[in-house]
Amino acid sequence: RKGNVVITGASSGLGLATAKALAEDGKWHVIMACRDFLKAQQAAKAAGMNKENYTVVHLDLASLDSVRQFVRNFRQTGMKLDVLVCNAAVYFPTAKDPSFTADGFEMSVGVNHLGHFLLARELLEDLKESDYPSKRLIIVGSITGNTNTLAGNIPPKANLGDLRGLAGGLGGHHSSMIDGGEFDGAKAYKDSKVCNMLMMQEFHRRYHEETGITFASLYPGCIATTGLFRSHIPLFRTLFPPFQKYITKGYVSEEEAGKRLAQVVSDPSLTKSGVYWSWNHNSASFENQLSQEASDAEKAKKVWELSEKLVGLA
Ligand code: NDP
Repeated sequence: RKGNVVITGASSGLGLATAKALAEDGKWHVIMACRDFLKAQQAAKAAGMNKENYTVVHLDLASLDSVRQFVRNFRQTGMKLDVLVCNAAVYFPTAKDPSFTADGFEMSVGVNHLGHFLLARELLEDLKESDYPSKRLIIVGSITGNTNTLAGNIPPKANLGDLRGLAGGLGGHHSSMIDGGEFDGAKAYKDSKVCNMLMMQEFHRRYHEETGITFASLYPGCIATTGLFRSHIPLFRTLFPPFQKYITKGYVSEEEAGKRLAQVVSDPSLTKSGVYWSWNHNSASFENQLSQEASDAEKAKKVWELSEKLVGLA
């Protein structure tokens, strides 16, 4: 049978490019888990995806109720789950004030980390039940949360501190950041990506041996053209793609980045668990190193436990 892969945020950018690559591959049925049902359907159609190869199911990661409803709806389709890709993200680099999810969490960490954390925890049960030969749970990471890289050292740097803001529930204007500091939209995004990479490793430590599931993260390259930068100032949006193309040389097209993520979903040679994949200039994959904070097992355990409380799992 075909493999079934759930991709969050498949209505644009990397998620859509990955959905397209997998749908065209012929071996996959893609469940596009998206907050805007119509947009997702139109995007799939415009990308030329064949109707038989995908299903759109509503998911708003900014609401824990919606996450739970998505899990129920998915189960009702009767489809098995073979691979889950946590891809969706929001980024508010110019926001002066925080915005909040339905459950009152600062939006970037609420959507990028907490919504995905609940989704992944719930769907782990479905992955366990699948009889697919190579089951995978992939959480998209980023270089920007890695302070051992040039890009990760552009201020404001990611820093989860002692997690006091997370422990306090990320609510309110003065306690919306994980480290308890003043709100900074760019930093909140980077912090959320550190959580993504920490959670992938914590999943690996807790569940790989018992379940055989491959847990992986990746940095697909800088896809400077996606909607992620939609709320940035216009000058930035004009200069960022050529800057990435000619100066940092980290630029990748959405299509190429989609192929990379599709590889992490389906390539038989990428089954190693607990790995953060990156690609070199010749588009060859390699196991990359994470920064000290993004590979801190003690911190991962604490983030896991605090997040469990916030999403109602503990
Ligand atoms: P896009 O903004 O193009 O895509 C983000 C997707 O997430 C969209 O489909 C969006 O839906 C969806 N989304 C946003 N909020 C929610 C929500 N509340 N519930 C469900 N879905 C939601 O960005 P990218 O494709 O660039 O980003 C995809 C991933 O790649 C992210 O994890 C990002 O961190 C990562 N990444 C991106 C890099 C880049 O250079 N662009 C570099 C490194 C990592 P909608 O279409 O409705 O807006």
